[in-house]
Amino acid sequence: MERWSDLHVHTKYSDGLFTPGEVITHAKNKGLSCIAITDHDSVQGVDEAMCAGNGNGIEVIPGVEIPGVPISIPFLSGWLSLFIIMVLHELAHGVLARHIGVRVKSFGLLLLGFFPIGAFTEPDEQELVKSKPRDQLKVYAAGPMINFYLTVFVLILSIIFASLTNSYLVTEQAGFTDGLYLAEVTEFTGLCGEGPKSLNYGLLDTNVKILYLNGVEINDYNSFYYALSLDSISAKLLLEGNEGIYLEELYFNSDGKLGITVELREKADIIKPFKYSFYMFISELLRWLWILSLMVAIFNFLPSEPFDGGKMAKIILGSFIMKRFAEKKKRRLIGLFFGSLVLLFLIINLLPLFF
Ligand SMILES: [Zn+2]
Repeated sequence: MERWSDLHVHTKYSDGLFTPGEVITHAKNKGLSCIAITDHDSVQGVDEAMCAGNGNGIEVIPGVEIPGVPISIPFLSGWLSLFIIMVLHELAHGVLARHIGVRVKSFGLLLLGFFPIGAFTEPDEQELVKSKPRDQLKVYAAGPMINFYLTVFVLILSIIFASLTNSYLVTEQAGFTDGLYLAEVTEFTGLCGEGPKSLNYGLLDTNVKILYLNGVEINDYNSFYYALSLDSISAKLLLEGNEGIYLEELYFNSDGKLGITVELREKADIIKPFKYSFYMFISELLRWLWILSLMVAIFNFLPSEPFDGGKMAKIILGSFIMKRFAEKKKRRLIGLFFGSLVLLFLIINLLPLFF
């Protein structure tokens, strides 16, 4: 039987249009048998979806979309990083080619319209093939090697940069946060409307700021969880709502839960200083620069064409390992070697289908 799934679904808890219950109904109508709820920075919809899924025979995989994971590289720093990485890579090939006396026919930028997206270098192929195999290897290795050096250099730079700017950034961030808010009170504290009832359900205003908890001033999650641990029977909150400041005593149920959700909120329409945004941008750029540079280096050392590593492997096989073989036999054996390598990788990738 064929089964279909959608493993990337948002609900109204982030930028989706439907409640988790409505999402399940749509999934059922579309004939899906499994979905993953993956809201941005939120797992609020997961419980609801799992309940609704249970009732409708749809499997629900809990998930969350975390910003800054390689899948979504920020545009400006991602592009700038790749550009720096590619230019250095091609420049290194070119410089090494000149170093061993091979003419470089051209060097330039790859453009998409007016937009530089990479670089290229074109050493004279005929001269390069005629030079010593050891020298040819140097030319091909130079590109990925400079990317390795760049990774190490940028990593060191990031550590220095972070140590210089961290205290400033933390202080600024504290200025942006408005405080911890009581966002929601749930009726039941277990999963799927099961478990004991919250003793505080229906008795509290939501969207109110938590000023103090058990006598501790609250300004972030850490202070909240610390203060919460001070008393196991009740939580005494000093709250600030539309009607002013007031006290509220909350009680833990038999599961030791209050049934409330808290949320750290940023001040509305805050203008972040240029220095802050600039520092944040630089640290983001440095992070992408070393990650992408390392990836480019590793990929280019793979012993398979069109990567530099593929060309290097050919030279090593042809000029060192099979040095004494006739040219025709050499070419056949190299073809056989890479062919079986590809076949081997294919088989390894297909294995999970059979087990
Ligand atoms: Zn290269």
